[in-house]
Amino acid sequence: MPTPITLETIRSAPKVLLHDHLDGGLRAATVIDLAHEYGYEDLPTTDVAELAEWFIGSADSGSLVRYLETFAHTVGVMQTREALVRVASECAQDLAADGVVYAEVRFAPELHVTQGLKLEEVVQAVLDGFAAGSRVAELAGTPIVVRALLTAMRHAARSREIAELAVTFRDDGVAGFDIAGAEAGFPPTRHLDAFEYLRRENAHFTIHAGEAFGLPSIWEALQWCGADRLGHGVRIVDDITLAADGSARLGRLAQYVRDKRIPLEMAPTSNIQTGAAESYLSHPIGVLADLRFRVTVNTDNRLMSGCTMSSEMAALVEAFGYGWEDLRWFTVNAMKSAFLPFDERLALIDGVIKPGYEALLA
Ligand SMILES: [Zn+2]
Repeated sequence: MPTPITLETIRSAPKVLLHDHLDGGLRAATVIDLAHEYGYEDLPTTDVAELAEWFIGSADSGSLVRYLETFAHTVGVMQTREALVRVASECAQDLAADGVVYAEVRFAPELHVTQGLKLEEVVQAVLDGFAAGSRVAELAGTPIVVRALLTAMRHAARSREIAELAVTFRDDGVAGFDIAGAEAGFPPTRHLDAFEYLRRENAHFTIHAGEAFGLPSIWEALQWCGADRLGHGVRIVDDITLAADGSARLGRLAQYVRDKRIPLEMAPTSNIQTGAAESYLSHPIGVLADLRFRVTVNTDNRLMSGCTMSSEMAALVEAFGYGWEDLRWFTVNAMKSAFLPFDERLALIDGVIKPGYEALLA
């Protein structure tokens, strides 16, 4: 008899997370601790439960100003080496405790330099934190492999510099590069120089595209910039026509994305909060999974969305009636799409993921 699927049992299943922001995943208690320690006085409250609620409420509010304010606070308390090490270490521990066995966690080094840290020092602090948190997790019996992705902000002009940083640290725990920030008005082609550099260096990158903004953004990310993966990519459904009999007709871009097995890093709760999807049930992940796109499940911002990798999967189980085979499929999809060397991906799929789901299915 298969193990019944509940939030608890999903937590025990091996999971893979490709899209998680370091500044979106702090513990509320840590935000308060760090604010106290570093004299940051702008928090809306210093009560842990109230602050956690405030983050989710602000992200839910539909107001971009309030949504962005949440990151002002988390980034505001992540300006020293000690703070970055702590946040990164807790991130690794929290993901491991939730049953995540492999994670790529992204952050924008340029946002952590207001108190004088150099970009290299920011990256080193986060990598040291991941290593420390991974050691704690290993001792707790929940081993995890964590890699960093370096993000450049799409409205800024430092993408080439950040791309070079990603290449410099590629053998020390940085697996790739990303650009993030408001899509409208800031097409990925603004950062072509960075992407061309990365391609010359045989480096990996993903691009936030097709979250709120439409198909042109996805097309540019793939066909001009050469992205390996799409951050969200939700709007690819705009290129799919569903007939009343359930059959689907794919436009050329959707066809390309499916044929080339382009990974889509989808984060249901976050997509609902930003208006990229209306509900779990109507989230394009359902249709895209049915059509066998290379779909992956992600958290995006655990603090702002009040979610975990397990709760995201539980929400999909509830909405679409998924079973363990489906969760295994999402997980293997994610592991196949990771920016980790092929042999290491295979070792995790064969040695950890498949046996983990076999035990739940037995
Ligand atoms: Zn994101």
